[in-house]
Amino acid sequence: MEDVMRRLRERLVRKLVEEGIIKSEKVKRAMLTVPRELFVPEHLRELAYEDTPLPIGHGQTISAPHMVAIMLEEAELDEGMKVLEVGTGSGYNAALIAEIVAPRGSKRPGHVYTIERIPELAERARRNLERAGYADRVTVIVGDGSKGYPPAAPYDRIIVTAAAPDMPRPLVDQLKPGGILLIPVGDKWNQILYKIVKKTDGKLVVKKVTPCVFVPLVGEYGWREDAAYLV
Ligand code: SAM
Repeated sequence: MEDVMRRLRERLVRKLVEEGIIKSEKVKRAMLTVPRELFVPEHLRELAYEDTPLPIGHGQTISAPHMVAIMLEEAELDEGMKVLEVGTGSGYNAALIAEIVAPRGSKRPGHVYTIERIPELAERARRNLERAGYADRVTVIVGDGSKGYPPAAPYDRIIVTAAAPDMPRPLVDQLKPGGILLIPVGDKWNQILYKIVKKTDGKLVVKKVTPCVFVPLVGEYGWREDAAYLV
């Protein structure tokens, strides 16, 4: 079974390379290394290497591999970086980030902090990360990530995997000079993935990356739980 999954993983990565979505060796290596099948619900395991989002319970999803790859490429990750991910979900993206910033045997390993508002998902993500061998490189926190995670700030990179109505100011504040924030902004039907680079003088350079579809970022600097967006 492991062999079948490895072959399906290789096929998916080959497709994403051919489509020009995976561009760098490090993103390619990470996506070839992290077993996505360990992060999807048991009964959906055979769909783990379809390029599609999959339900993970509580109305949430593990993002489609092509969207994950786009974000990893735009994040310009490097070994040794400290990264905050907002929206842990299954833990898959956190494992991929860890595979780049803290590869096994690294002499200067970075670290991933990932924050999830739904405690049951955070708990399952912890178990997934443990099983896949990333527990020491990823810290899972339960909380409202629209406020960032001040105890470990500032971050080299902040990657948000849920859509905000606007750019949450605390996330920009918790970014190091020279840091990059990736965040989908927009309502249910119309979202754009933004890349915000904080220059060393504190000025922000904003780039539109691609239209996208994410579940809502719910929290103080996100959507209200009872917002029309959610019904
Ligand atoms: N990165 C995830 C993965 O690899 O499986 C997929 C994330 S899923 C598209 C978005 C996640 O963001 C959901 O699990 C949702 O509960 C979470 N979320 C929404 N608002 C949040 C908030 N304010 N703080 C933390 N997590 C939040």
